[in-house]
Amino acid sequence: MRYVKRKNRFFSSSALLFMLVASAVSTLSAGCSGDGGAGGESEKTKTLMGTFARIVAYAWTDEQAAGAIEKAFNEVETVEQMMSEHLPESDVSRINAAKEKVWIQVDPLTSAVLSEVNWAWKTSDGAFDPTIRPLLKMWRGAAKAGRMPTRKELAQTLNKVGWKNIEINAEKSQVRKPRAGTELDLGAIAKGYAIDAAIEALRSSGCSAGLVDIGGDVGCFGSPPGRNEWVIGVQNPFGEGLVGRLNVSGEAICTSGDYRRFVEIKGRKYSHIVDPRTGLPVAGSPSVTVIAPLAVRADALATALSVLGPKEGIKLIESMPEVEAMMIEGPPEEPKVHKSSGFDKYVIELDVLR
Ligand code: ADP
Ligand code: MG
Repeated sequence: MRYVKRKNRFFSSSALLFMLVASAVSTLSAGCSGDGGAGGESEKTKTLMGTFARIVAYAWTDEQAAGAIEKAFNEVETVEQMMSEHLPESDVSRINAAKEKVWIQVDPLTSAVLSEVNWAWKTSDGAFDPTIRPLLKMWRGAAKAGRMPTRKELAQTLNKVGWKNIEINAEKSQVRKPRAGTELDLGAIAKGYAIDAAIEALRSSGCSAGLVDIGGDVGCFGSPPGRNEWVIGVQNPFGEGLVGRLNVSGEAICTSGDYRRFVEIKGRKYSHIVDPRTGLPVAGSPSVTVIAPLAVRADALATALSVLGPKEGIKLIESMPEVEAMMIEGPPEEPKVHKSSGFDKYVIELDVLR
């Protein structure tokens, strides 16, 4: 089965670079055994976090699998409630609307995501920074007006950006902004966190295998009956179809760097990923695939690599033992593929030039 990302309304993100193919349907029809005797299965898709969320589960009975899926969806819904910048009552919206120096009480879950943000920001040397929201708004405004932002606008907006403008008291789950104007957009990490939470719900409900796909970012564990791993298809970033298939289990695989999601000014396309250091949308951004033990990290790193580019990006991934990445750079007639040294162990087939 094939799933294409839809436009992401809530988190204004959607890589759409990859079409992810889980092998659930084909392996089910194969009807093989070999998965610890678990014969129950269930699958459901909902619209959540501004995109599709699809969950597949295997358990002893169909009912058990279906119940686990409901629990997993609840987790995704909770993350959405906390982290959507479009729901006025969400933690993120309350932080964005807050006055300077006022401590805002947030859910421990939001606090946990912010500590992951902190990790990603540090690890990427500031390339990952969710305080870019004012920049995204500026670029959207410029596109609407059909002109480039002025130097002054860019400088003023950049002035509001910087993770250092968010203070966190992790013990008390409180957040404050030393200066007014700082705003968060967790679109590059919230889906990853939601995937991990949903996977945990499937596991703790006793499922033998499961897959959670939110807008094309995927977490999975175990394997469908008759298989050793899940098969994930990599979409051709330059056109239709797949460029490859990967074997993944017990890990998450997230994508980023979409040039089908952009704003257009005077006929030129500008990415929805911006460099927090310059305020400019990343240019010629290659497609990025990151595989990591946790989706929250794979998601954040995929966005960070879009900003860092292949050279620095792959170097960063090489420093992380359990993380692998692949970046596909244009032009389409002559694509360049950059892979971390362990990436090939996931590859079933890969042909970027097809
Ligand atoms: P997708 O959500 O489509 O899979 P990403 O995970 O790369 O794509 O997230 C892109 C989103 O991340 C953007 O729409 C924006 O909300 C946010 N973002 C853009 N630039 C940055 C950045 N430098 N650091 C953190 N978040 C960013
Ligand atoms: Mg991301």
